[in-house]
Order: sequence, then C-alpha cells, then structure tokens
Amino acid sequence: MKETVKTWTVLDILKVTEAAFRERGISNPRLNAELLLADTTGDSRINLYLNFEKPLTESEVSLYRDKVKRRLKFEPLQYIRGKTEFYSLEFNVTPDVLIPRQETEILVEKVLEYIKVSGLECPKILEIGTGSGCISIAIAANAECNIRAFDISNEAVKVAEINATANGTSDKIKFETVDFFDPGVTFEGYDIIVSNPPYISANDVPGLNEEVNGYEPYIALTDDGDGLSFYKRIFELYNVTQNKPFIFLEVGDGKKEAIVKLLSESSVNNYIIHNDLMNMPRVLEIKGTGNK
Ligand code: GLN
Repeated sequence: MKETVKTWTVLDILKVTEAAFRERGISNPRLNAELLLADTTGDSRINLYLNFEKPLTESEVSLYRDKVKRRLKFEPLQYIRGKTEFYSLEFNVTPDVLIPRQETEILVEKVLEYIKVSGLECPKILEIGTGSGCISIAIAANAECNIRAFDISNEAVKVAEINATANGTSDKIKFETVDFFDPGVTFEGYDIIVSNPPYISANDVPGLNEEVNGYEPYIALTDDGDGLSFYKRIFELYNVTQNKPFIFLEVGDGKKEAIVKLLSESSVNNYIIHNDLMNMPRVLEIKGTGNK
C-alpha cells in the first residue's frame, strides 16, 4: 500500500510555523513564517495571501522545513534569507558580515545632509569597517562621491563588492582589506570619515541576545576590549590630520558618556551628538576644517 504523505496548503503550514515560532519566543512569528515561505515558493507575500488553499509540493515543504528549523535555533532571519533591506536598498548578507541595523540609517542621513550643505561636488570619503558595505553603498546611491571603504575581513569585503555591484554603485567605491590599526592608515586628503565601529565591550557580548552573539561576527560586534578603541584611534588620527575631515560615527548604546570623556581627553571639542528617532544618542559628528 502506498504511504500517504500529508499535503500541506499555504495556510496550514503558515499557521503551524507561526505557532512554533511564537512558542519559541521569536518576535513577529507570522511575518517570519511568511517571508521564509515566500522565499521558498518564489512568491510574493501578497501572492501567498491570494493562494492560501494552494497545496505545496514535497520539495517546497522540505526546503521550507530546513529554513524553519534554522530559525527555531535562533539563526537571524536575514542570514537564512541571505538578504535584508537598508536605506530602501537590498543587501546580501552572510555570517561574515554584521546585519545592517535600521538605527544606522541616521548615520547615512547625516553624511548625506553634510554633503549637501558643504557644497562639495564629489567628496572623498573613507569608511572604516564597511561590513556588508551598507553605509558606503547607501551614500553612493544618493550622492556624487568617491569612497574608499575598508574592513579587516576579506570575506566581508567580498560581500560588500557584490552589494555595490548589485546596487549600481561600484564605480564610486573602492573596497579594500585593511586593518584600521595599521600605522600606515591616514585621514589626510579625505573630506569625510564615516564608521559604525565594533563598539560593544567584550564583557557585554555573552549577555547579548542569542541571535546576535550566536551568529553575527564577533569582530564586527566588539573590539575585544572596552568597545572604545576605534573611537580612540579615530580621534588620534583626526588630531594629527592637517586638513581635518568631518567625522560621522555611530554611538553605541550606553556609550555616550565614555565617548564624551574620550573626546575631552583627546582635546576634540568641535562636535555634536545627534539623537535618533527613539531619542537615543546615535551619531557623533566632529566638525572638520575642510580641504582648502
Ligand atoms: N558598516 C557595517 C554596518 O554598519 C558594518 C559595521 C560593523 O561591522 N561594525 O552595518
């Protein structure tokens, strides 16, 4: 006798997955279930809704199950999907890069605002720790500019290059594998420096959400110290630069006071800290003197 295999419809499988995700404490369980299923069947989410009664093929069910299992182990949705959105653009993401965060969009906004008011026609920009390339690519997609973006991870640089090409910005950005603490690094000749540095203290990493500390690259999260070493090095380089660039840095949660102290110890006074939409201090802007 032929064994009967259960036929799953779109609606049935979404309901079961949503319940499993909810029970596991995964936020937005229904949305997670829908996005993973839409990726599997190649449909849009709207089409899933229009085809609730549609039976899934056995291979669709098995592919979908694999993705659901990964999500139940708290692997981030963005790594399972292999993509995410940032500044209304699509980015490929792999476990070699930090998942772009919505709160980082304000960093891009501040740089774009400055480019506008500065009147610079094609500013020279340096990005430190580009990861997926999201910051540089979002800037390049919205302004004339010439960007050098580096990351210590060669794997990250490869992902960033793919993203730059996919978003039509590869002619404006040069990606390089560089260790920022290399003594050869200089800010000389740049109009703008931008970075979302690894600012989490090493001590805080074990207490992070499992989705973060279990999957995102350790070197993208922390400097393996107090979370301040990138800021410190950036202020040092700023001080020794002749024509000082404008600098835009993401401020880590709870790091404002420590950064302000470091600024004062480094005798950097010409700065302002912008809050984000949640009214959290998010972007440190250090004023430059410009390249005359
Ligand atoms: N620039 C990337 C981002 O903001 C990566 C930052 C990082 O790895 N610390 O998402």
